Amino acid sequence: MKLLIVEDEVQLADALTEILKRNKYIVDTCYDGIDGLDNGLTGVYDCIILDIMLPGMNGIEVLRNLRQEKISTPVLLLTARSEIEDKINGLDTGADDYLTKPFVTDELLARIRALTRRKGEFIDESRMDYNGLLLNKNTSSVIWQGNDVKLSLKEYQIMELLITNPRQILPKERIIEKIWGYESDVEYNNIEVYISFLRKKLSVISAPVQIRTARGVGYSLE
Ligand code: CA
Repeated sequence: MKLLIVEDEVQLADALTEILKRNKYIVDTCYDGIDGLDNGLTGVYDCIILDIMLPGMNGIEVLRNLRQEKISTPVLLLTARSEIEDKINGLDTGADDYLTKPFVTDELLARIRALTRRKGEFIDESRMDYNGLLLNKNTSSVIWQGNDVKLSLKEYQIMELLITNPRQILPKERIIEKIWGYESDVEYNNIEVYISFLRKKLSVISAPVQIRTARGVGYSLE
């Protein structure tokens, strides 16, 4: 899962980034509204955590612009206790939820899980299920009928992307955008290496799914 944090309090933004990365999210961080909007417009995020009071462009304006451009990424607004009107305004503008500062990390994590949960795909917040093939976030492993195998961080992130978009061809470009980011110098053959590791691991646990190659395009989980 890929998240965008837009928060101008650098210490808070960086602390959140660390916590979310430790929870296996892929995180981009912006410290002002204009940067936040630029990033948000790419549409690659699974959730945007957006502060309201921001330099450059405030959070409500960022949100309004995103929704005008038909970007439907779930948005969690961060508000100060005094900004009740902004809260209402934010929800009216198309925010999906809000959290009042200061907040505890566990609550933020729970809100993000709720906003990124896709219908029918999650058994609980730490396990994803695709026709009985389980992906366990806490242990970074894939499990088929009691057999499990550990995944590296990148393998986990690719597997998560595949399992949340089953039977869809995921272009290699999109995998790079999601996992390494736009400006990375990762090449297609790096992804091929990770996919081959994943295929081996899936066969080790005899999982009846395969990562199919759509020649010249990308991969799909079947
Ligand atoms: Ca702020």
